[in-house]
Amino acid sequence: MSGEARRYSVRTHVEVQLAYLHGSPTPGTGICQVCFGACRPSSARCVPCAEIDYQAGRMAADLVVPITYRKGSGGQHSQNLRMYKQEPHNRTARRNLTALFAYFCLHHISCVKAAADVDRFTHVCFVPSTKNPSQDVHPLEETLGDKVRSLRGIRLSVNQQVPSESRSFHKDWFEAGVLPAQGSETDVLLLDDTWVTGARAQSAAYCLKQAGARKVVMLVLARQINPDYGHSKPLVERISKVPYEMDSCAFHLSDMIPAPRSP
Ligand SMILES: [Zn+2]
Ligand SMILES: [Zn+2]
Repeated sequence: MSGEARRYSVRTHVEVQLAYLHGSPTPGTGICQVCFGACRPSSARCVPCAEIDYQAGRMAADLVVPITYRKGSGGQHSQNLRMYKQEPHNRTARRNLTALFAYFCLHHISCVKAAADVDRFTHVCFVPSTKNPSQDVHPLEETLGDKVRSLRGIRLSVNQQVPSESRSFHKDWFEAGVLPAQGSETDVLLLDDTWVTGARAQSAAYCLKQAGARKVVMLVLARQINPDYGHSKPLVERISKVPYEMDSCAFHLSDMIPAPRSP
């Protein structure tokens, strides 16, 4: 397949999902500046992000980038995010998530790199499953690995002393395997499917920073929204009305760079 035909195909596979994808993450009042979840209108961050910042500080991820939202547990996007793991042969779920990720990277990785002050990512890491720590390859890596094959992989191992269902940040939840040489520039693209509290993802980011990573940028397929949380209401209403905007992102360059002036 030619490059142009492949790009067309990726776009088509995202377009067919627009009917059920919710509005794109964008900054605003009542939106956490870190994770784009809901927070009190008077706060800059949600409670879990504020707690993690207190514990991890600069050792947390430099930027958190959710591609979409996941509202509650219903809907086709939620189903894709469940099915790609539970039914590895469910090609539709994997194809949809891969297309969403690939299209986002093609069109917005420059926005993400500019926002994070990263010239180029050198490494990729997938947040390991804490429920299946013996799993050789995470299903997300099986699904997206081909799209990030130009980056060197970093594997994290799971400290099984930490309860697998914990919703808290743990500095010692993960251990880095093969580390890049000291002093070499290591800017890591850290990938996960769903962000709930960020505890697991930020524990992984902390581990990577401790291991010598200069920057860690967290890219997640979906920011989970709990519609029952009181402060979620405005966000839930907005993302229910506004469709997913595939040609923009939370850090879109056209919003950050002034338009060139005519001479
Ligand atoms: Zn947050
Ligand atoms: Zn963008």
